[in-house]
Amino acid sequence: MRIAVYPGSFDPVTKGHLNIIERAAKLFDKLIVCVMINHEKKPLFTRLEREDQLRRVTAHLSNVEIDSYDDLLAKYAQEHQCCTIIKGLRAGSDFEKEFQMAMINRKLNPNLESLFLTAEHQFMYLSSSTVKELAYYGAELEDFLPREIIDEFMNRIRNKEA
Ligand code: ADP
Repeated sequence: MRIAVYPGSFDPVTKGHLNIIERAAKLFDKLIVCVMINHEKKPLFTRLEREDQLRRVTAHLSNVEIDSYDDLLAKYAQEHQCCTIIKGLRAGSDFEKEFQMAMINRKLNPNLESLFLTAEHQFMYLSSSTVKELAYYGAELEDFLPREIIDEFMNRIRNKEA
């Protein structure tokens, strides 16, 4: 069984993430979407909230599982028999950082490949932080966030502002 892991903050999951998930799920027997905990960042949503949002927006994908982890990704991959790390590449910003991460992960676990999927053109500049910024200015979010999570996202933004 070929298992891949797609790691990220997913704070919150965007349509760009979902597009990568849907495409990667077709390439593997199982895809684990893993919320990676970054203790240096103060997230908008808790680990469990992000897991729950991911479960809801991927409910139509039978070979996708959701998990979370707060240690090295290479270690997670080994523990869960993952052969491949999936990454999404957007315009400009991602390449250098992702290239470095791929080198490190391969050094830590030589059997682990990193597979880069290019962002779909309409999501090329989309990030969770852009969506947060758009929300502060009251922009429509249908094009950027899965509809299942728009209300709770807006509520969280409003509570944070209050
Ligand atoms: P961000 O907070 O910048 O959106 P994440 O840590 O949640 O980033 O991203 C997880 C992974 O998804 C990374 O590999 C990132 O490059 C990728 N990704 C994020 N947004 C998009 C997008 N719009 N299209 C394609 N890949 C994306």
